[in-house]
Amino acid sequence: MVDFRNVSKAYGDLVVLDSLNLKVEEGEMVTVIGPSGSGKTTVLRMLMALEKINSGVIYVDGEPLSHMEKNGKLVRANEKYLRRQRAEIGMCFQHFNLFPHMTALENCMEAPVHVLGLTKKQARERSEELLDMVGMLEKANEHPSRLSGGQQQRVAIARSLAMRPKMMLFDEVTSALDPEVIGEVTSVIRKLVSKHNLTMLMVTHQMGFAREISDRVCFFYDGKIEEQGKPDDIFENPQKERTQQFLSAVL
Ligand code: ATP
Repeated sequence: MVDFRNVSKAYGDLVVLDSLNLKVEEGEMVTVIGPSGSGKTTVLRMLMALEKINSGVIYVDGEPLSHMEKNGKLVRANEKYLRRQRAEIGMCFQHFNLFPHMTALENCMEAPVHVLGLTKKQARERSEELLDMVGMLEKANEHPSRLSGGQQQRVAIARSLAMRPKMMLFDEVTSALDPEVIGEVTSVIRKLVSKHNLTMLMVTHQMGFAREISDRVCFFYDGKIEEQGKPDDIFENPQKERTQQFLSAVL
């Protein structure tokens, strides 16, 4: 589904991703853990084509991201093509960024109507179904300012899913939340893993959740995957010294 091949990214002299190779298979839930500044968020931003790649290629479903074929050659994708590629991947951030002047339902309906061209009726049905799935149907007509952080994050997840993405990216979606509402967001993600065969890539500092929910855990260090494997192997029996040091500091 997603394949980073020798992807490098630097900001000036700072190398953030260093010839990264990372594959996520269809239906897989992969979690990225690692110290602050190790490049975790950058990986997600690259997949959303929010950052330019310095070298290497990212393939999404076999297509090189941000590129298109023209006269038998690969050239940079135009806006229309890029929009279609972007619509296939949904992303939820630490800060939910809902549109403040729209209700929860309107937030979910916006992109399906304006980007996918659904009718309002179709978008409403789809959005209501998703708000129900995240337990927010009762609050469909509330504006974000009247919702708790956990509720806003659940609406943000429904809004991303309303685009029917092939893949979801979660970046620290519980970091800005009060401890008592973290569970309502993690249980939505848990449901997505168990009932919907979505491909997911998640960055989290919540080690317990990563261990419970992931098919694979990747430990990042200095823009590279230092170690990856099944959650029990990584958490119980890490092989690399840096992984051991990181886990003993955070667990
Ligand atoms: P954290 O766990 O703290 O969120 P991270 O592993 O997600 O960290 P990134 O956000 O990917 O790390 O950032 C990697 C490095 O790149 C950091 O040193 C960061 O300061 C730097 N960086 C990120 N975005 C930019 C930018 N737009 N310009 C310059 N440097 C940046």
